[in-house]
Order: sequence, then C-alpha cells, then structure tokens
Amino acid sequence: MNNAEVSAKRCPRCDTTKPLFQFHKSKAKRDGYNVLCKICSNTAAAEWRNQPYGRARQMFTTARKRAAEKGIDFDLTPRMDTAQT
Ligand SMILES: [Zn+2]
Repeated sequence: MNNAEVSAKRCPRCDTTKPLFQFHKSKAKRDGYNVLCKICSNTAAAEWRNQPYGRARQMFTTARKRAAEKGIDFDLTPRMDTAQT
C-alpha cells in the first residue's frame, strides 16, 4: 500500500495526477480539496477574469464584501424611480 495514493488526486483539466499539496483546500468539497489543481485553477480564474462577465462579477463580489465590512446594505436591484428623470 502506498501512502501517495491517498495523498494524490487527479486534476480533470490537465489530466494529471498530482499530490494533494498542489490542490487548493476547499471546505465545500467532500474530499477537502479543489477539483482543479492550483495551476489549473489559477489559469481558469485568470481566464474567467478576462471575460466581461467574470470581471463584472468580480467587481460586484468585491463591492459587496467591502459594503459588508462597513455594514452598508448592498443592493444592486435596478430601481424604476431612478430610471425616470
Ligand atoms: Zn490541473
């Protein structure tokens, strides 16, 4: 029995089995690690940020986080009354 078998995981993106330290930890995942390896998740995140939707989404997330830190209600729901001038 090899201990490396337990501490390694296959990344579906680069199709490579890598040791677990090459994966980000993720509490949301059942095995406690991200699906993608660190390199692939970094690449995927960079690609995602380069897309208009991804960038907007990230700005939104950052803004909401800042607002939460300051205790401000953050609401991006479009308001009909401000649309009419
Ligand atoms: Zn990978």
